[in-house]
Amino acid sequence: TESLTVAELAKKLYREPSEIIKKLFLLGVAATINQQLDKDAIELIASEYGVEVEEKVIVDQTDLETYFTEDREEDLEVRPPVVTIMGHVDHGKTTTLDSIRHTKVTAGEAGGITQHIGAYQVKVGGKKITFLDTPGHEAFTTMRARGAQVTDITVLVVAADDGVKPQTVEAINHAKAAGVPIIVAVNKIDKPTANPERVMQELTEYNLVPEDWGGDTIFVPISALTGEGIDNLLEMILLVSEVEELKANPNRRALGSVIEARLDKGRGPVATLLVQNGTLRIGDPIVVGHTYGRVRAMVNDLGRRVKEAGPSTPVEITGLNDVPEAGDRFVVFEDEKTARQVGEARKQQAVQAHRNETARVSLDTLFEQM
Ligand code: GDP
Ligand code: MG
Repeated sequence: TESLTVAELAKKLYREPSEIIKKLFLLGVAATINQQLDKDAIELIASEYGVEVEEKVIVDQTDLETYFTEDREEDLEVRPPVVTIMGHVDHGKTTTLDSIRHTKVTAGEAGGITQHIGAYQVKVGGKKITFLDTPGHEAFTTMRARGAQVTDITVLVVAADDGVKPQTVEAINHAKAAGVPIIVAVNKIDKPTANPERVMQELTEYNLVPEDWGGDTIFVPISALTGEGIDNLLEMILLVSEVEELKANPNRRALGSVIEARLDKGRGPVATLLVQNGTLRIGDPIVVGHTYGRVRAMVNDLGRRVKEAGPSTPVEITGLNDVPEAGDRFVVFEDEKTARQVGEARKQQAVQAHRNETARVSLDTLFEQM
């Protein structure tokens, strides 16, 4: 519940606090300037000035989860890790992602046309790893702000010739706040000016201490440019993944998050979804954020049409009635009718929230003009 002090309310109403105190007194409430007022008192005073207090409708992104029941332990199976690459600008995030994709995807899957859908999967010794391809920090923060936690492991790329920089620290903070384990990739070791020891030294300040120095952080020296150390990095990701015991139940209706979405001229709303639990199939009735529909077509990261997608798999889908947003949650329903009802309700909720926001803004503008 919202509460304001007399002074804060006075400011919002563009009145003197003494005037508010007087009004309160006449209403039988003895108040001081720093007194907290409850919702009823605020409404009462506001109505005296002809201002209606509108309750902010918070569109809860996570409430879709309430349609999703818990899994039984015995139904859970090991799933691939979902990895986000973070680090300071120019330290080699994109090159690392490209290097992994090229050594693993195109070589292993001859003929496959890699397509940008915001995420991709590689296979290492029969085990899969999913990489989020979207600009690290932004994706991470937008998603987390919308209640989606999609990352299992963060690879922190630090250039060995540059060391720890502001966005390196930012990335560490994001990962730590989310409770996501960090693997440090010390990049650009091919450069003559590379100084990996310095990177390790600097990171100890942030509690990222290599195992050799008595800590528990994995450091992998790499050159994203030459490909050196990339295999080792992938091995380490699988190692951490095993320790984390990442599991999901493939034998149920899917739930997950939107990685990215856009409006395609020919195909309509297109969204890349990351399946986080269950299996997504063509024809599934689905609610995605404040949109809904039926999964019409699914394309994987290699541009191939697929009929289903299991846990930790990214797929691009069509069939939604509107464009969702990155970080939106999705849930598959048993029947189309329920999906439509829930979808419509959520859409109304979003429209209403937007209206309230607009109403409040115009009210503020009105006051400012007075
Ligand atoms: P991002 O901003 O973190 O995505 O960094 P980029 O991947 O775009 O890389 C920035 C620059 O560093 C580019 O010119 C890359 O070619 C270069 N670069 C990336 N990795 C390496 C590496 O391992 N060795 C060398 N020598 N250059 C690299
Ligand atoms: Mg980049």
